[in-house]
Amino acid sequence: MATTLSGREAPLADALVMFGITGDLARKKLFSALYELVADGTLANIPVIGVARSEWTDADLCQRARESLEGRDEAIITQLCSQLSYVRGDYNAPDTFERLKVALGDAQVPVSFLAIPPSLFDEVVEGLSAAGLTESGRVVVEKPFGRDYDSAVELNDILQKHLREEQIYRIDHFLGKEPVQNILVFRFANALFEPIWNRHYISSVRITMAESFGIEGRGRFYDPVGAVRDVVQNHLLQMVALLAMEPPASNDAAALRDEKVKIFKAIKPIEADQAIRGQYEGYLDEDDVAPGSDTETFVAMSFEIDSFRWAGVPFLIRAGKGMAETLTEAVVEFKAPPRLLFADEDHEPVPNTLRFQMKPDDTINISLQAKVPGSEMVSRAVELSVDYEEALGGDGPDAYERLLHDALLGDPRLFARQDGVTEAWRIVEPLLDHPNPVITYPRGSWGPTEANEVLPGDACWDWSSIGHCT
Ligand code: NDP
Repeated sequence: MATTLSGREAPLADALVMFGITGDLARKKLFSALYELVADGTLANIPVIGVARSEWTDADLCQRARESLEGRDEAIITQLCSQLSYVRGDYNAPDTFERLKVALGDAQVPVSFLAIPPSLFDEVVEGLSAAGLTESGRVVVEKPFGRDYDSAVELNDILQKHLREEQIYRIDHFLGKEPVQNILVFRFANALFEPIWNRHYISSVRITMAESFGIEGRGRFYDPVGAVRDVVQNHLLQMVALLAMEPPASNDAAALRDEKVKIFKAIKPIEADQAIRGQYEGYLDEDDVAPGSDTETFVAMSFEIDSFRWAGVPFLIRAGKGMAETLTEAVVEFKAPPRLLFADEDHEPVPNTLRFQMKPDDTINISLQAKVPGSEMVSRAVELSVDYEEALGGDGPDAYERLLHDALLGDPRLFARQDGVTEAWRIVEPLLDHPNPVITYPRGSWGPTEANEVLPGDACWDWSSIGHCT
């Protein structure tokens, strides 16, 4: 048993099964997470069994781990290799799961990580169940959780045919990132802002996820998906929930997830006239992109949360590839003071903002007005800025390390619950069903200028990480 941060007793995993161990996600992220968990003792003596189709041996698996972990501590890599073993087999073949069962021996709480295409979830969960491997333990599934509302419900039905909801851990790795979790700590561990965290004081909330790069050869994955499915339905709506939710009644997973779902339920489906879709110039020439594809590489949208706290406050989301900068941030803008006592017309104070920046740096910035030295009573914006890595000494665990750690311990708080997933699909469904045409924009820009059309009143997009707004 382990006591999680929420104080809940959960059985510790005694085996980890990695479906898809030969794949891209394992190579890029998962070996590194396993390495860190060996290093910090979480994975001490727990067997790690990879299952995939390639004709590999245990030695090949260790070799792949070594390649992924080049330059890291040899003693830890050797320890990881001593815990790794490989079961070769097709997920459609029942004997794959029989051999896995033998490899698991008398493990009581196996955690199975499904780093595989979602089209195979069915086969794997079915195979685990037929081999009697789903009665205890947990199954971790990677996003995407469906590609629209109906398919998300269907996927869930498949999972719940063999697993109880509390056994299902849906990874949205974005939720495992330190700066994302920090939003909750900032809001609920500081009394300073909570009294003004509402429609009386806040004029808008603007979230940007911009990537200066394009699809980087991943056309096969990206073209059927697009920005709404790739980052808005999951990562960015999760960020909205963290910024907008009420304080949970307790620190346990159900309370936290309940509050998030309440926020989603208070958002009406976003219609095409609330959004602008864009596509960067040259996208159609990328490999594996369908001729004439109208997949969006950019989207900007505006919506409201219909609650006592937020009614009338525009929430704005902008996400894109091929943009001027790589930047992920949420900007909370406060209302301007009612009477501008000190300013002449040329020096009107700009409203205070609070900026949670997650990329490129994990910082929080508060912009305040301060008097410009001299005889005039004129103010100018100054920034109070904290770089968390600098201030707190370190950038914390990588998201996959954190989430694998929590799945091994049985702490579900950072994983998505089914009602949250389907509610988020409901919100973006009209954009998927009736998309407006994409507008082309130059690479290295901030997307189509039409993105301004979704902005209400005086709101504006932020044009750079230092907070300019036009
Ligand atoms: P890959 O296609 O690279 O890997 C798929 C894995 O599944 C391989 O290990 C493959 O084994 C195994 N596999 C496929 N079909 C079978 C089968 N019939 N029987 C046995 N094994 C099979 O996928 P990724 O690693 O890129 O992605 C895995 C999951 O993670 C997906 O859901 C994806 O959406 C998600 N994801 C991936 C990210 C990434 O950066 N790659 C980022 C975020 C999420 P073999 O090769 O040996 O046949």
